[in-house]
Amino acid sequence: MLSTNRESPPPAVGRAAMKKELPEQFKAHRHVWVFIELERGKVHPVSFELLGEGRKLADKLGVQLAGVVLGPPGEFTWFAIAEAFAYGADLAYLVEAPLLADYRNEPFTKALTELVTTYKPEILLLGATTLGRDLAGSVATTLLTGLTADCTELDVDADGSLAATRPTFGGSLLCTIYTLNCRPQMATVRPRVMAMPQRGNNQIGRVIQHDVPMIEEEIVTKVVGFLSDGLSATANLAYADVVVAGGLGLGAAENLNLVKKLAQTIGADYGCSRPLVQKGWMPADRQIGQTGKTIRPKLYIAAGISGAIQHRVGVEGADLILAINTDPNAPIFDFAHLGVVTDAIRLLPSLTELFTHRLSPHSRDKLAN
Ligand SMILES: Cc1cc2nc3c(=O)[nH]c(=O)nc-3n(C[C@H](O)[C@H](O)[C@H](O)COP(=O)(O)OP(=O)(O)OC[C@H]3O[C@@H](n4cnc5c(N)ncnc54)[C@H](O)[C@@H]3O)c2cc1C
Repeated sequence: MLSTNRESPPPAVGRAAMKKELPEQFKAHRHVWVFIELERGKVHPVSFELLGEGRKLADKLGVQLAGVVLGPPGEFTWFAIAEAFAYGADLAYLVEAPLLADYRNEPFTKALTELVTTYKPEILLLGATTLGRDLAGSVATTLLTGLTADCTELDVDADGSLAATRPTFGGSLLCTIYTLNCRPQMATVRPRVMAMPQRGNNQIGRVIQHDVPMIEEEIVTKVVGFLSDGLSATANLAYADVVVAGGLGLGAAENLNLVKKLAQTIGADYGCSRPLVQKGWMPADRQIGQTGKTIRPKLYIAAGISGAIQHRVGVEGADLILAINTDPNAPIFDFAHLGVVTDAIRLLPSLTELFTHRLSPHSRDKLAN
């Protein structure tokens, strides 16, 4: 039965019913931090993408944005700091120690947790790379705070809480997660999910150096050698400017050669939808989508891919999506910019031939750059 008594509003539900008063010990937490990931002396581009996002959050909150660099003494760490300033950081925190030369969970967790405990950031962002995922998990666990992994959107709501949005229920829904009663609020974001910000000219700012006493003998993990995956042909898929991908609609593993041939002709990288990896037609690091790579190319050509939500979330940052599919009602046509309703097995060789004649090697290089 409906009640008409206006004096007794229904009890608050959902987020409104939660305790929003932050415990006293966390009220000193301020500022947005971005972990600057160093890969053997090079800054991982996801760190710059996060600085772009961190800048927006810091401006909304009216606080500062800091880059956090952990590494061995030397020019690489200082180069990373200069780059953090160029991409918008107001200040930088630095822990320099020889045993931070190669990533190991224990010393990195120790250094980062100590920085957090000492300087008290409100928000801490890391790239959802192999390293970032490992470090974020152990830092959040050590600090007993919340961590929202693989976010696709970050914002601050009216009361200044971090609203961290990520796919849930197999990607069919998006949920926004709040860390209401602990600090810092931590989130990881996969490479290419956020746009790369414009690099500025400023490479100078305040650097806070912090000494974290650590001795090698106390660290269980030892680095005995390093095997580079630099020769892997797949390393650059997330950052490729042009990507051609095939799906189950290609019908057979050998038809993926049509995708590879077109990719090669136009200076593109190539990928696939998940079922192809499950069938063993392509290696897992070629998979595009929610559980694969997120890509942001200038041009994405999807051949025989239906456009399921789990695939869509990995490609919708592309500037131009061209879909080739026999089914005019395929979901991919809901978000593709250009669509061709036809048999991809016939169209791909024609496209390759066309480009072979129309593109000079110079144009191909230009397209890829
Ligand atoms: C937790 C979870 C995570 C997932 N993560 C991912 C992920 O990261 N990436 C991903 O891709 N999927 C992912 N999936 C799977 C996803 O839901 C879909 O099943 C998958 O993307 C479908 O792949 P597909 O489009 O290649 O195949 P299908 O859905 O079988 O679609 C094939 C398409 O090809 C078309 N077609 C058929 N013949 C031709 C032809 N000759 N020429 C042109 N078109 C043709 C058909 O009309 C159809 O649209 C995930 C699923 C779950 C549950």
